[in-house]
Amino acid sequence: MSQGSRIAVLGASVAGVAAAEAVRGAGFEGEVHLYDAQSVRPYDRPPLSKGLLSGTQEVDAIALRSDQDWADLDVDLRLGHAVRAVDADRTVTTDAATTTYDGVVVATGTRPRRAPFHISPEVRSHVLQTSGDALRLRADLGDANDVVIIGGGFVGLEVAAAVVALGKRCTVVEVSELPLGSAVGADVAGFVLDRHRAAGCELRLGARVRDVVPAGRGRAEVRLLDGGAVEADLVVLSIGVEPAADLLAATGLDLSDGVEVDGYCRTDLPGIYACGDVASSYSHLYGRRLRIAHWTTAREQGACAGANLVADLAGHAPAPFLHVPYVWSDQLDLKIQTVGRLLDGATTHVEHRDADSIVVAFRLGDDLVGGATINRARDAMLMRRTLSTALAESSKRVGA
Ligand SMILES: Cc1cc2nc3c(=O)[nH]c(=O)nc-3n(C[C@H](O)[C@H](O)[C@H](O)COP(=O)(O)OP(=O)(O)OC[C@H]3O[C@@H](n4cnc5c(N)ncnc54)[C@H](O)[C@@H]3O)c2cc1C
Repeated sequence: MSQGSRIAVLGASVAGVAAAEAVRGAGFEGEVHLYDAQSVRPYDRPPLSKGLLSGTQEVDAIALRSDQDWADLDVDLRLGHAVRAVDADRTVTTDAATTTYDGVVVATGTRPRRAPFHISPEVRSHVLQTSGDALRLRADLGDANDVVIIGGGFVGLEVAAAVVALGKRCTVVEVSELPLGSAVGADVAGFVLDRHRAAGCELRLGARVRDVVPAGRGRAEVRLLDGGAVEADLVVLSIGVEPAADLLAATGLDLSDGVEVDGYCRTDLPGIYACGDVASSYSHLYGRRLRIAHWTTAREQGACAGANLVADLAGHAPAPFLHVPYVWSDQLDLKIQTVGRLLDGATTHVEHRDADSIVVAFRLGDDLVGGATINRARDAMLMRRTLSTALAESSKRVGA
């Protein structure tokens, strides 16, 4: 590998930072340019809806790496440099420069999904994707008495828990009858929702929002398609995210569900890899394509993409991305953990349940394909280990 060679990593969050570290860890000695559109030091996102929002953590505490780590890593950290386009020949364009690289790792994550209903600019509404968003919401919560959260997924319910803990009234408006159900199954979802109700949060399930309009005195009214309405001082939109993949529009890659990569984090274009929330990846565990927008996948896939790109540039064989999905969410006094996936057609089996915890296994026929637990970390880790062992054995058999 020529020492003059250059690698660009686009996105300096958990996937991009893991990729840059893996590039160096694999012995790459050329230039590494790590771009991010944001101007602030890279930070971790899970605390945004937890400690940073509730005020138990500050921005310094959620930095992804220390100044010393950055110096040791020896990458050119290009903060405040939004990448406008990447071409098929690995040319990266920002407002400041156009540079062609030997390899590119795309780790641009997601952005909040645009609301499919009108939100008046006069109401106090928030999304939660960046540390700036979390600090603005935290400040705005100060004089709010009540909050409506639109969207009852993991992040929406974490925000609800933080709002209730601050002593505010909280209503979650959610289109599904059973939020979280497709990720954790009905038993675990029911357990979580009961706890939110018991904590004082009102859940409006199966409710579609028509629009969000001013209600006078600075308040907002969330009007529902069934004719109902909820009024509050402020509104938090947590209706999901979409991959930030448009910078690759000129490459001709299929971007219909993020950036498609194979089981080695490679796109169809030579030298262009993708990882983290922006990527939809072939899963060796399930033999199908998945886009998993969660932290552990982003970190592990980033590491795989960085190492495989360096192997590729050196003419060596890549390593498969052998991954068992793992997700956690902290809400109220609940530590929710899922491993693997609740695949279509899988059945759920409650293996343990008491007042404060539950363990559910997901099975397809006799095979364990995943599981979800609350306040039973050991069981989650055991299921993850079982799936990892099965994955390692099957990949040895097929020579992945
Ligand atoms: C509020 C919140 C709470 C969460 N809590 C949990 C949790 O409890 N458990 C869990 O498993 N997961 C959680 N997640 C999800 C987890 O944080 C993400 O899966 C993870 O951050 C994805 O990492 P990533 O590096 O792929 O992308 P991101 O973290 O989305 O980062 C992408 C980076 O790319 C940059 N970027 C985008 N476009 C460009 C461009 N054109 N040019 C330059 N830079 C660009 C962005 O500025 C950003 O820094 C949470 C996410 C949020 C938002």
